[in-house]
Amino acid sequence: MQSESALRLVWIYPDLLSTYGDQGNVLVLEQRARRRGIDVEIVHVRSADPVPESGDIYLIGGGEDRPQILGAERLRRDGGLQRAIARGAALLAVCAGYQIMGSSFGGDEGQPVAGIGLLDISSVRGQARAVGELVAEVDATLNVPTLTGFENHMGVTQLGPDVRPLSRTLVGIGNGDGTEGCHSGRIVGTYLHGPALARNPGLADLLLGWATGPLAPLDDGWFDRLREERLAAVLPR
Ligand code: GLN
Repeated sequence: MQSESALRLVWIYPDLLSTYGDQGNVLVLEQRARRRGIDVEIVHVRSADPVPESGDIYLIGGGEDRPQILGAERLRRDGGLQRAIARGAALLAVCAGYQIMGSSFGGDEGQPVAGIGLLDISSVRGQARAVGELVAEVDATLNVPTLTGFENHMGVTQLGPDVRPLSRTLVGIGNGDGTEGCHSGRIVGTYLHGPALARNPGLADLLLGWATGPLAPLDDGWFDRLREERLAAVLPR
């Protein structure tokens, strides 16, 4: 049953783009909303199905090169995500999903493949795989604590003037120029897995806040312990 008042989370193409447990991002948003008494409805959109336009927060994950190419083609033809963003919906796009949001990215042979142009970024295949833990300081305008997560990608991403870097890397590669991810309007793109929102509840609340307005604080004991453990493992003492 669809309820008019429920927060709608839309998980795009779980059959193509869902590596490294990125679907956990959906669960974290769901739990953080429910713990605040917000009703949640989750829509899983398989790649053969149209993307509904009525979502509040859209999520898309990482993937291998070929599913990434297929996902980009289907999203472009479908147009539902683009219309939802034009309406003001929020989006978290991770890794392959992040690259797809740009104007183009490097395919399985390094060939340029068209993205869907929701972010002013373009990606190419780099010389070496970026793999390992990542720590980065978030753009101060977003008021989100230090990012922690892990990355595993060949892509190098160049940001255009219409987006801002999400963060500056302390450890790891990210976009490849000292920055990690980007944001523009209510869209966040990132290379981070972990899942990103389990490692960074502040990022989860940024997205939830965009969709629902000011949020009550939560007791984040478990999240804090995970963050402390991961940050201590990679930051120099
Ligand atoms: N295929 C892309 C790259 O290697 C994305 C990888 C991923 O999503 N993990 O850059």
